[in-house]
Amino acid sequence: MNRIRLLSEQVANQIAAGEVVERPASVVKELVENSLDAGARKISVEIGAGGRSLIRVTDDGIGMSRDDALLCLERHATSKIQRAEDLSSISTLGFRGEALPSIASVSRFILTTRERESASPEGTQIIVNGGSIAEVKAAGSATGTSLEVRQLFYNLPARRKFLRTEETEAAHIQHYLTLAALAFPEVAFTFQKDGRPIWQLPAVPSERAVSSRVVALRERLRALLGEEKMLPVNFCTALGDGLKTEETDIFETASSEPPEVLDAAGSQLRVWGLIGSPGVSRATRESQFVFVNRRPVENRGIHYALIEGYHNSLMKGRYPVCCLFFEIDPAAVDVNIHPSKREVKFHREFEIRKFTAQAVRDSLLAFHSEPLRTPPAAPPATQAANDLKSATEAFALPLPNFPERAIPSSAPLIPGAAAVPLKTDFGASFPPPPKSVPPPPILPGAAPLPAPASAAPLLNVPLRLVGVIGKLYVLLESDRGLVLLDQHAAHERILFEQMLHRIESGGAAPSQKLLLPETLELPPRDAQFLREQLLVLTRLGVGLSEFGERTFLLDALPPFVKVGDARRFVLDLVDELKAAGREVNLARLGEHTIAKTVCRHAVKANDPLGGAELENLVEDLRRCAMPYTCPHGRPTLIEMNYRELEKKFGRTQ
Ligand code: ADP
Ligand code: MG
Repeated sequence: MNRIRLLSEQVANQIAAGEVVERPASVVKELVENSLDAGARKISVEIGAGGRSLIRVTDDGIGMSRDDALLCLERHATSKIQRAEDLSSISTLGFRGEALPSIASVSRFILTTRERESASPEGTQIIVNGGSIAEVKAAGSATGTSLEVRQLFYNLPARRKFLRTEETEAAHIQHYLTLAALAFPEVAFTFQKDGRPIWQLPAVPSERAVSSRVVALRERLRALLGEEKMLPVNFCTALGDGLKTEETDIFETASSEPPEVLDAAGSQLRVWGLIGSPGVSRATRESQFVFVNRRPVENRGIHYALIEGYHNSLMKGRYPVCCLFFEIDPAAVDVNIHPSKREVKFHREFEIRKFTAQAVRDSLLAFHSEPLRTPPAAPPATQAANDLKSATEAFALPLPNFPERAIPSSAPLIPGAAAVPLKTDFGASFPPPPKSVPPPPILPGAAPLPAPASAAPLLNVPLRLVGVIGKLYVLLESDRGLVLLDQHAAHERILFEQMLHRIESGGAAPSQKLLLPETLELPPRDAQFLREQLLVLTRLGVGLSEFGERTFLLDALPPFVKVGDARRFVLDLVDELKAAGREVNLARLGEHTIAKTVCRHAVKANDPLGGAELENLVEDLRRCAMPYTCPHGRPTLIEMNYRELEKKFGRTQ
């Protein structure tokens, strides 16, 4: 007797649904993606009971004819690809032709659609229950498509049991919608939960140039997640021979070549978007939004690259905040490795990771070193420029006029105070920031993107000293409000950069011989670990040498390190370096990590500093490449502008 038979269409669909439709949020994702693929300019999403009782997605996209509406419920029916070759260059969000039949097979489903092009006011409505078509009829409707999914999994009790609470399911839906709304600021989104409106996001139109899209993204981000200090990112590179790049000005080419469109060779990679300013971080990865060709994705490599890029401007255990878009030749990325396309695989994973880390790092560096672009004097003509203008005006504060080069040498910290060098033990002269680091192998987005006024680098505006509290926090005043400086963190940053600069320019960090060298014995494992770091430690001014199998001789220290208990110091160093090593996953720790650790032992907190010394501290900080955080990522400066003060004092809403 034959035992093998073909499954019915309905069972096959339910099996496919098992993969595609994991939970209500998957339904919302598939439906919204279809609306976006259909060119919708407005999408409304309504849910009831966390999506269990109702999901309705309505769009004003191209709609479907009656025939198409019937066909779209068949498995493997899609308008998005035709041939297998198309799989290697997918530019739509969907392509499998599986979503609608799968969803329809596990719910009570009503599709109402009318073609955008059609002259007739009549559309089509199809009612499907658990995969079988119950009714097909003509129905009056607006152009576009509306999909109603009720009683999800009503015919799959096992699946239904796995659903979490309504709140959890609703949170998943809201998370997906956040991603979609960030990827498509030009589309208006509304979201209703159990009859209550949650969002009303107006469309934020933008031009194709990256600068304009960043302005739109910032606007959308603010509408969704509130105010956050974010820096623009915009880099492109030619993928291929390592990270070699050609000189192109993306702002020049942006109008003729829209950013989503890649060059003929298809080997260009662009990353653009917004990342948190130094000091902005979160306890989880939840605020990292990453998109590849506008598709929200998870990619571990990119997550690591972000942390790598922030390097010493991120606190331990904290995560960067970002909204980053990768535009890459669809052929260079495989989106067909995950049933709901959440994960992607890059063909050149390593290059992309390296490029991302560098782009993040350079954007952070540019924040401090690039002069601010003043908004154009002439009234902006384009919509995007208007957006930029209103975004700038949204900050009610009277803003200082930023000069082209904004380092206020003409605006001393304390007028009239004589410049007395701050004792950093490196002498008074602090070389200019290490610009001699090898030129980045990637193309910076030619001109820096305009930063909104609130993100204007703090150290680029004149600061006046007000006083010091708690022997640690320096109070400063700017035209924008109050600035607090952590004296110790600032000093650590300065020492750290000075140290690295010395090493990068071929020298060794300063070191002072100890009057009484000390021998110390370490446990065998620590001794072995320390032995591997000796060379770098010595270059950084910590004179340690082997003095027996487990015994070391400490005979020199950087002048700014004052050690009461040498053994303690070395053991602390070993512990800290080991912990750091686990994190960065390096066999041999880099100079940066070691310098960072050594600087932690700088004594500076609680040292009373005079006015002139404080002036120098701020000046030295201004000369740092990454002045806004200490080497461990803690902020050196905190700003509370007048707007925030007014809010706190209840003067404004
Ligand atoms: P896929 O998106 O992978 O093509 P789906 O099952 O999600 O597969 O959709 C099947 C087809 O139905 C799509 O290719 C598209 O042509 C059509 N379709 C689905 N949703 C819409 C919509 N909201 N507006 C217009 N057409 C749609
Ligand atoms: Mg689809």
